[in-house]
Amino acid sequence: MNIIDIINKKREKQVLTKEELAFAVNEFCNNEVKDYQMSSLLMAICINGLSKEEIFDLTDIMLNSGERIDLSSINGIKVDKHSTGGIGDKTTLILAPLVASLGIPVAKMSGRGLGYTGGTIDKLESIPGFQVSKTKEEFIRQVNEIGVSVVGQTGNLVPADKKIYALRDVTGTVSSIPLIASSIMSKKLASGADKIVIDVKVGKGALLNNLSDARELAHLMVEIGSHYNKKTVCILTAMDEPLGCNIGNALEVQECIEVLQGGGSKDLKDLVITLASYMVKLGKDISLEDAKVMVIDALSNKKAYNKFLEFVNAQNGDLTKLTTAPKVFSIKSTKTGFIDEIDALKIGKLVHDIGGGRSKKEDEINYGVGVVITKKTGDFVTEGEELIKVYLDTIDCKMQDVLDCFVISDDASKAKKLIYEVIE
Ligand code: URA
Repeated sequence: MNIIDIINKKREKQVLTKEELAFAVNEFCNNEVKDYQMSSLLMAICINGLSKEEIFDLTDIMLNSGERIDLSSINGIKVDKHSTGGIGDKTTLILAPLVASLGIPVAKMSGRGLGYTGGTIDKLESIPGFQVSKTKEEFIRQVNEIGVSVVGQTGNLVPADKKIYALRDVTGTVSSIPLIASSIMSKKLASGADKIVIDVKVGKGALLNNLSDARELAHLMVEIGSHYNKKTVCILTAMDEPLGCNIGNALEVQECIEVLQGGGSKDLKDLVITLASYMVKLGKDISLEDAKVMVIDALSNKKAYNKFLEFVNAQNGDLTKLTTAPKVFSIKSTKTGFIDEIDALKIGKLVHDIGGGRSKKEDEINYGVGVVITKKTGDFVTEGEELIKVYLDTIDCKMQDVLDCFVISDDASKAKKLIYEVIE
């Protein structure tokens, strides 16, 4: 078999056999197929797509490229959750203890942030002392003891995706629906959960900008899950403005604590309740309505907050030492009107540029920097009123860049949807 023949075949819109796909992926992992050859194949896939059978085959090849986690020694139905990524998306930190507090074991492996979207592991590491590495035995023991553990992904979980994703990231081939579906589902299937809830983000701050692409991705992931007998539910949600008010690692942990204590911003809370309700429905095999009642109760009676404290403590985190950057700039509106838009991508770039994100995986991040949005979309603001606070280590704040994230108009805009639809 020859990689050039495989590239040519896909360029000519032909269907690749499982053996051809396996050759390309496995030989790329062995460094026999070179980056430039894989890039070329990925671009051909991006342009010409993959048939459903090719997508199933690719997922299976990636899934079997490394270790698969066996969670069978944990009692109960394990429900995993994934998000396709968005600015200010901190839901895992709330969902994991919330769902665990209702008796559903959460054994979760999460990733770090790259580019403009943050990663759960970075957010957890902003809590001084928090340990994200555990042996498999320690990880499983913690879930059996307290019902929840969140750790960093082991190096050998779907290594093919790690290598291919790094290349996609720098070759303009991230936003291919077949590649996204096989990338996400191979990791979810390898992580060992019984059922899966996926938050598919749609909008300016997301990988996919329109609902029809998000629907296509969701249907594909649901079908892949069903092929492996893992019930998968996809919830399509808006990612035009950042989720919640706080963006930046330690600031996001603070906002999670607010939600767990019964407060927090409405969009974040509503999304958490929806995702948790589906997780509890799947985990307990009960109706969505009953699951929602349990979720709201666990938030209001602090059951979820207490489980969060137990979880942080079990992984050596010290919340009393959580700190944010010392210089806080209050940015005031230069206009009176309604907030029509808060550009999630621009906010993500801003937080990244002030040190809250990394451009290369070796980069160090500054956990304390970030922003807290005072006025969300739909709010009324008068000239001179605060729009947002910026947390920095230095006294250098480019005010105009911050103001450019907001669009203010004279008329109140129609309420925007947060949850579009559920595909299962
Ligand atoms: N998230 C993933 O894990 N993979 C993709 O391809 C896109 C988003």
